[in-house]
Amino acid sequence: MEATRYVYEFEEADGTNKQLFGGKGAGLAEMTRIGLPVPPGFIITTEACRQYYADGKKLPKNIMREVNDNIKRLEKKTGKFFGKPNNPLLVSVRSGAAISMPGMMDTILNLGLSDQVVEGLAQASQNRRFAYDAYRRLIQLYGKVAMGLDDAFFDVILGEAKKRVGTNLDTDLQAKALEEICDDYKTAIKKKIGQEFPQDPWKQIEIATEAVFRSWMGKRAVDYRKEFKITPEMADGTAVNVCTMVFGNMGSDSATGVAFTRDPGTGESVLFGEYLIDAQGEDVVAGIRTPKPVQQLKHEMPEQYKELEKVRYILERHYHEVQDFEFTTERGRLYVLQTRNGKMNATALVKTSREMVREKLLTKEEALLRISPENLEQLLHRRIDHKAQVKPLAQGIPASPGAAYGKVVFNPDQAERRGRLGESVILVREETKPEDIHGFFRAKAILTSRGGKTSHAAVVARGMGKPCVVGCEAVEIDEMNKVAIVNEHRILEGDVITIDGTTGYVYQGEVPTVEPEFSLDLKNILKWADEIRTLGVMANADTPKDAGMARKLGAEGIGLCRTERMFNAADRLPIVREMILASTVKERQKAIDKLLPMQKGDLKKILRKMHGLAVTVRLLDPPLHEFLPSVESLVWEIERLRQVKKSLQQIETIPDSVKVMLEPSLRKYVPPIEHVLGELSEIKEKGLLDELLKKKEEILRKVRETAEVNPMLGHRGVRLGIKYPEIYKMQIRAILEASAELIKEGVDIQPEIMVPQVCTSQELKQVHMWMEETQKAVEKKYGICVIFKFGTMIEVVRACMRAGRLAEVTDFFSFGTNDLTQATFSFSREDAEKKFLPLYNEMQILMDNPFEILDIKGVGRLMKITMEWGKKTNRNLKVGICGEHAGNPRSVESAIPLGSIMSAAPLTVFPLPDSQQHRPN
Ligand code: PEP
Ligand code: MG
Repeated sequence: MEATRYVYEFEEADGTNKQLFGGKGAGLAEMTRIGLPVPPGFIITTEACRQYYADGKKLPKNIMREVNDNIKRLEKKTGKFFGKPNNPLLVSVRSGAAISMPGMMDTILNLGLSDQVVEGLAQASQNRRFAYDAYRRLIQLYGKVAMGLDDAFFDVILGEAKKRVGTNLDTDLQAKALEEICDDYKTAIKKKIGQEFPQDPWKQIEIATEAVFRSWMGKRAVDYRKEFKITPEMADGTAVNVCTMVFGNMGSDSATGVAFTRDPGTGESVLFGEYLIDAQGEDVVAGIRTPKPVQQLKHEMPEQYKELEKVRYILERHYHEVQDFEFTTERGRLYVLQTRNGKMNATALVKTSREMVREKLLTKEEALLRISPENLEQLLHRRIDHKAQVKPLAQGIPASPGAAYGKVVFNPDQAERRGRLGESVILVREETKPEDIHGFFRAKAILTSRGGKTSHAAVVARGMGKPCVVGCEAVEIDEMNKVAIVNEHRILEGDVITIDGTTGYVYQGEVPTVEPEFSLDLKNILKWADEIRTLGVMANADTPKDAGMARKLGAEGIGLCRTERMFNAADRLPIVREMILASTVKERQKAIDKLLPMQKGDLKKILRKMHGLAVTVRLLDPPLHEFLPSVESLVWEIERLRQVKKSLQQIETIPDSVKVMLEPSLRKYVPPIEHVLGELSEIKEKGLLDELLKKKEEILRKVRETAEVNPMLGHRGVRLGIKYPEIYKMQIRAILEASAELIKEGVDIQPEIMVPQVCTSQELKQVHMWMEETQKAVEKKYGICVIFKFGTMIEVVRACMRAGRLAEVTDFFSFGTNDLTQATFSFSREDAEKKFLPLYNEMQILMDNPFEILDIKGVGRLMKITMEWGKKTNRNLKVGICGEHAGNPRSVESAIPLGSIMSAAPLTVFPLPDSQQHRPN
């Protein structure tokens, strides 16, 4: 059997196969193929990484032979020699999985240097400083990645060297100082871990390859994959990219930078990026020196700038996507070292989508698909209210837009801890590093005092859509002592600040924010989405106010109007309680008669607001005890009332005691006490307290009576309607009378009546009968026809199984996916989410929370059967989803085949431009 091949040159690798070559490798291969100036190199596949783990963390057999063969080929291509002092070949070893995980895995640069080779490099380059700078970086990176030492270990030595020279800039360190640092690094490593820094470059590359494989399972990478739900199907293992080193730190004719083919903050079609003269790539990304905007390169290196513009053009024409690429100019010669799809904020995504369609780089569909629902959500973020006229404390570089406020924390562990506790926190750091990622997840925003728009903090925050300000040099941060000083202000941990990632401003305290406005680009994109979509989008709204908002946001109707929400208003609740506590039908009817005009009034307002669009009104659903006070609160109140009654009796002795016991000057208080007592005795005589007590005790008795062991599976939904027909009849009457009155006014309305918690067609038939009776009565009363639809919620497993029969009596089904999920799993949502779902997710017994992400394999399957059986008996049956899942993008994606209408909370319904609205088919 032929041995598996693990190593491919850039020229040979398939640039479309990210699974095998990783995103970085595929990009390098593709750029080599289309003629861009990529330094020669090769890729060790992700398959090798998988094999490494399968073999118990051992490099696959023969892999180093393949690597060595490829190094030999590199020597031939470059005319340089690996491990030889004479004209030495240096390489970088970089990680790269199928899905980009910026900074989460390891990379080592300048491999191939040793005590001997560095001398050769110094001679070959005629630049001793450069050679020792490269060696210093290698020892440090190698020490960190392959030997497990942390940055601080090396920073101390570097810091001491700078102090000796009297500088705080790396660039001020001359060859001699760097040589000493290299020696100090090596001695310190030996002392710390008892191992030498390896002088054999072949050994270096072997250990480095292994270290990169190991970083795939490092904490950072694992956390990142977990947070972003990167599954093994999406990326399984990292590739290792071995690439000839080119140097941006060979003097003033060398530079290194990161660029985007368009501005990732605004979407503008201009070359965007940053660079540093005489520096290596890590300097730009780490934010150690503040880089210059790439436009300045036009003046500093005009030829290279022109070439960069060419690269920009070629990359976009090839990838049909905005690219984020790394470049290095070595002694005037430009190289491209990496390309990947550019991570942009929502504004930029929307703008570039629109413009790239115009430039025929994308079709409308492609343009829409590159914008995720989460991206669009960013545009719903609030921004600082300019009217607030607050003076900023400082201004940094705006790196990721949006405004946020929160309590300052100076380290990522604190951000994680306090964030998890539900506090709004802002992570404030000098600069961030990949190992800070856990803090990013929980922070509302990030502020750094160093670094530019392509620094780690900026890139990661943009990817997460979190506001971020970087390079805010006016903020002096003392992370150890947990204080930041801005001019004369001291900001301590826990103090609130506001940051605006759109302008770069930092404010003290909480600053008011306002809703965002919709750009022309966004309106255009939404119009395309509206033209292309097949799904109907409705909103769940229960009050006239919510209905107004739903309409404003472009909902095509109300898919769920929960009538019980109208019962909760302060003026309704006492009547609803009267209705529940009634001992006779007559008493109940009396309360219901008071509710009818209120319910009708609300419904009229809602139907009017939604003129021309459907409004699905659901009859009462929750168990009645939800409208009653809790047993605990009643017991407490009764106890208090009893105490008050007793105190009243005792208080009558006070005036006599005062007269007898106190000195004459205090007797003036007797008349007011007697006055109060007079009023209190009226309360006593009229028996107010006794009556109140009696009422409370009666309510308590009734509350105990209605209490259920499992209220969610108990007396609720249509079961209530069947037991108390007066309630459902009143609701039906309210809907139909409100409709009749609006029809008479000439308002175009489309009412729908929906029954909750149905499990058998007999229940539906019963409600249907009341509905027909009421319809007749209303039509007679108003002398007109009232047209409406009648449907059922599907929330009970038996309803799914009897879908064919239910469809015989209904015009529509609406899946209540929350209850249906509870019923299918036999999980009570609240208990599950509190007690065991997090563990299930952690252990990957369940990949998601099924109450957020529709469980397509179980619940989805039931829904599919229900829809098919329902449509078999009623071809015109309309099917939609009104459970919370309808507002969750991932759920909607998988639920599209299961319903043609999604109805969700108004703010999850994205606005349509100019409120164009029409009925879904
Ligand atoms: C549901 O169960 O999904 C539903 C929409 O009903 P409710 O949330 O009101 O129980
Ligand atoms: Mg429900």
